Amino acid sequence: MVTETLKRAKAGEPLSIEDLVALLSITDSDELQALYDCAYFLKEQYVGKVAYFRGIIECSNLCMKDCYYCGIRKSNTNVERFLMDEEEIFKEALWAYEAEYGSCVIQSGERQDETYIAMIERVVGRIAEATKGELGITLSLGEQTEETYARWKKAGAHRYLLRIETTSPALYAKIHPADHSLGERKECLAALRRTGYQVGTGVMMGLPGQTMEDLANDILFLKEIDIDMVGMGPYIPHSDTPMGQEVPPYTDEQKKTALTLGLKMIAVTRIVLKDINIAAATALQALEYTGREQGLRCGANVIMPNVTETDYRPKYQLYDNKPCTDENSSMCRGCLSGRIKGIGETIGFNERGDAPHYEKRTKG
Ligand code: SAH
Repeated sequence: MVTETLKRAKAGEPLSIEDLVALLSITDSDELQALYDCAYFLKEQYVGKVAYFRGIIECSNLCMKDCYYCGIRKSNTNVERFLMDEEEIFKEALWAYEAEYGSCVIQSGERQDETYIAMIERVVGRIAEATKGELGITLSLGEQTEETYARWKKAGAHRYLLRIETTSPALYAKIHPADHSLGERKECLAALRRTGYQVGTGVMMGLPGQTMEDLANDILFLKEIDIDMVGMGPYIPHSDTPMGQEVPPYTDEQKKTALTLGLKMIAVTRIVLKDINIAAATALQALEYTGREQGLRCGANVIMPNVTETDYRPKYQLYDNKPCTDENSSMCRGCLSGRIKGIGETIGFNERGDAPHYEKRTKG
C-alpha cells in the first residue's frame, strides 16, 4: 500500500487525504526511508540540493498573547523580558549580510502598539537601505492589521511568517485562551497575501490530542491557501507553561517519536506542495543534535541560524532545551555549514532563495 502510494507520489500524481494519513502513520523503518527518499527525490527535482540560510534575530520576548504552549507567553513571570533597540537589530542584520546569508528574519513576541510598529518600520527601512535591498527581510511578528503589514512591506520587508499552529478548530481552542482566534489568524494570512508578501505558515506537530487526520488536514490547508513557504516543527513542552507544567521532560523514546513525526510531516509536505520553501525548524535540533540536517534529508531546504546576541538567547526560550543558546553567531555559521556540506548539499550564500512556487505564481 505505502509502496504504491509513494510510486504515485514520485510520478507527481495527486494524493488523497487517506494517502496522506497512511504516509504520516508509517512506523516501519524501510517504509520510513522510502518516504524520505521520495521527498528528497522531489526536492531535488523542484528546488535543488541547496540549503538557504536565513539569519534569525529574536529581538524581543515581550508578548501580549498567552498561548498555553509558549515559554514567552505574557503570564509567564519567570521570564526576564527584553527588547533590543533599533541599533542592535540593525547590527545583527548587517552581521547576517556580511556572513553572506541571503536573508534575515526578525522575530519577536506579539505587540501591536504604535511605538513598536514604528520602530520595526524604521529598522526595516535602515536594513533595506544599508544592504541596497540585497538582504532579504522576513518578518515574524504575529498578528497585525493589514495597514501595519503594508507599512512594513513598504519599508522593505518582503516575506512574512505566521504559523497557523493547527487548523483543527477544537485543538486550536484547546491550546489557546478564548480570545485567541483561528478565524483571525486565517484573516491575517489572507491580509498578508493581499499586501504582496511571500507568505509562510505552518503548524506544530505532536500536540496532545492531535491526530494524523489533523496533520493531513493541515497539509491540505497549506495547499489550499497556496502558500510559498512552510515553517513547522515539533511541539516541545516548556515547564513554565500550562501545557508543559504537568508533563515530565521528554524521555529519549518520546524525543525520537517527536522527531520522526516532524520529519514525516516535512516529507509529506514536500510531496504534496513540491516547489515551495520548507524550513527545518530549530526545534528539530532540540530533539536530536543532527535534527535539522535530517530535516534537509527529508525535504526541507531552508535553515534559520540564530544571529541573536548570545546574552539574549536564554531569554527567548519558546520551549525547553532550545539549542545553541550558549553559542555565538559565528559558531552557529561554522557549525551548521560543516554539517550541511557533510550531507552533500551546497549553501545558497548571498542568495535570497525565493521559492520557485512564488516565482511561478507572480511571474506566470
Ligand atoms: N509571536 C510570533 C513569533 C514568535 S513564536 C508569532 O506569533 O508568529 C514562533 C513560533 O514558535 C510559534 O508560531 C510556535 O509555533 C512556536 N512555538 C512556541 N512554543 C512552542 C513550543 N513549546 N514547542 C514548539 N514550538 C513552539
